[in-house]
Amino acid sequence: MDTKQSLARLSQDLSLLGVEPAEAAREAKLILSALHNCSPAELFFYGERELDEAAQERIWKIMEIRTKRYPLQYILEETEFMSLTFEVNPAVLIPRGDTERLVELAIELMQPLEQPLLADIGCGSGCIAISLAHYLPRASLVATDISSKALAIAQKNAIRHNLAERIAFLEGDLLEPLLGANLRCHLIVSNPPYIPSADLAGLAPELHYEPRLALDGGPDGLAFYRRLIKTAPPALLPGGYLLLETGAEQKEAVSRLLSDSGFRIVQCIKDYGGNHRGVLGQFTIHNLKNCILCTSYFVLFTP
Ligand code: GLN
Repeated sequence: MDTKQSLARLSQDLSLLGVEPAEAAREAKLILSALHNCSPAELFFYGERELDEAAQERIWKIMEIRTKRYPLQYILEETEFMSLTFEVNPAVLIPRGDTERLVELAIELMQPLEQPLLADIGCGSGCIAISLAHYLPRASLVATDISSKALAIAQKNAIRHNLAERIAFLEGDLLEPLLGANLRCHLIVSNPPYIPSADLAGLAPELHYEPRLALDGGPDGLAFYRRLIKTAPPALLPGGYLLLETGAEQKEAVSRLLSDSGFRIVQCIKDYGGNHRGVLGQFTIHNLKNCILCTSYFVLFTP
């Protein structure tokens, strides 16, 4: 069987497993590009290439595991985010393409600054923090996570991309490591767990292999936003941003939590599918005690 035939076959087999057709086609490409050690875009050049016995065997093994709806990214032990490759394992949430929308916005906001300090709270694989460090060469970053296993992967990923020197990885609950170090950021970004606990059982089978710690947002899905938003002001410079990924139905609730804590809602973010995916808040001046200091920062950081 050649690569092109195998691509069609794999795509069909994955669809039969219940994987959505577009995702099945994407996964088939990922499997074959892993076999040819090329990018999915380069697969085109391998169309007529026959797959030898070892390659067929490898596909068979991958599909045997995938039949249990074990995520392909964990099988291949890597995935792509913001055009960078990240190692992943079941200790970390698999980076989602939709999260790229938030990263792009953070890059846009921070690009004009000379030496921005950013934090990624609950960094998991490190995909957000590492992408920000990669695309913002003058930035310094702090990445926190409560899971030491997740932090170990994030650190490995930072080393892989030669960015470990500009990212401090700190273990702890939400903002605690940041507050403990008395750090104030220009922007804090987070993709916290936001799925209501009761909804977890009904999710796609693949999600059951991902860390519950990274998905379960408590009874109403908002538990982490409440704590994060309430504790964020002292970790932000005046005029600093809090950029949060949210579920499609959480725009209003998260915006309200932000407004109640002195944030101005700057923007609501939609993902590639047109679904609501995040909220950008800016910490406003009136909550601060030291107004002289904050006036100058405010001028500097308000776009
Ligand atoms: N975006 C994930 C999903 O697809 C959820 C991630 C999270 O809870 N932070 O369900």
